[in-house]
Amino acid sequence: ERIVSARLMMEDQTAEYSLRPRYLSEYIGQERVKENLKVYIEAAKMRREALDHVLLYGPPGLGKTTLSAIIANELGVNMRTTSGPAIERPGDLAAILSNLQEGDVLFIDEIHRLNRTVEEVLYPAMEDFALDIMIGKGPSARSIRLDLPKFTLVGATTRAGLLSAPLRDRFGVVSRLEYYEVDELAFIVSRSADILGVGLIGEAAREIAMRSRGTPRIANRLLKRVRDFAQVAGDGIITADLAREALERMQVDPMGLDQIDHKMLRAMIDHFRGGPVGLDTIAATIGEESQTIEDVYEPYLMQIGFLQRTPRGRVVTVSAYRHLGLPVPGDRHK
Ligand code: ADP
Repeated sequence: ERIVSARLMMEDQTAEYSLRPRYLSEYIGQERVKENLKVYIEAAKMRREALDHVLLYGPPGLGKTTLSAIIANELGVNMRTTSGPAIERPGDLAAILSNLQEGDVLFIDEIHRLNRTVEEVLYPAMEDFALDIMIGKGPSARSIRLDLPKFTLVGATTRAGLLSAPLRDRFGVVSRLEYYEVDELAFIVSRSADILGVGLIGEAAREIAMRSRGTPRIANRLLKRVRDFAQVAGDGIITADLAREALERMQVDPMGLDQIDHKMLRAMIDHFRGGPVGLDTIAATIGEESQTIEDVYEPYLMQIGFLQRTPRGRVVTVSAYRHLGLPVPGDRHK
């Protein structure tokens, strides 16, 4: 797995627990989302009601799970965690729902992966806090309705477009998480260093932040790897030079691009004059799945303006040529 992958890896897990902010005030960035949630949480508490259902969407590692736990914490209720693929049958969901306490938060990660029959149990649960159960078989079968405690569903997804319309419509609050700014990531890295008890110079925090692809999970992972270098090669303190050297050795460049990003951009430039080139062709050329390129590699390259999607295929931009230190072809305008 790539060190700059935004997906959760084994090595992240122990630290994620301690590095995870617990209150809105500790949650850095995403100001608009935070402002809104603060109001809704206050209002729900004043009315002593459950908070409206919340849908959080955006790329992995940006803090959806963290925010859900914060919502529960701020509301003073418990959070129960599950995921779309983990709920296989309607009965699995019914069991989870009927075990909730009044006001609880139910967090469903990868909610776009719920199957249809399970989703149908969720509709009345979200709308009326009720569970419809079929009793008996054949002509004598009948449905009875059980009341559920009022709860808040927090759904998280990386692909809001894949959610069915009836499910999406049942969320009162829909918030999109954005990639973080370098300043915000530097702040997150400094906070994490404090918690881990690592000495980190401010400039070093920026070095790590710049290479974190706008993603707190990557920032924390790079910090931990750089800490290892500092312990072995230095005196345990992370200076800017040490951070730079360690990150270069890990082959993460100053924009957070790794070997695979370079390989993809170079292949597009060397074999297709920078594009336009179709996704499947790129995939075949570098030996990766189209889906992986689309979900994992491409979003960040587009975010920083190195890649553009056009109707005729992907195009490498002028900024990418410059970043790679390559001459910009004459026919490529600014
Ligand atoms: P997601 O659920 O979107 O994949 P997570 O909530 O698991 O992402 O976040 C990954 C890690 O990044 C968390 O463990 C936390 O340490 C850190 N993190 C995420 N968002 C923030 C933030 N706004 N402020 C500080 N740390 C954050």
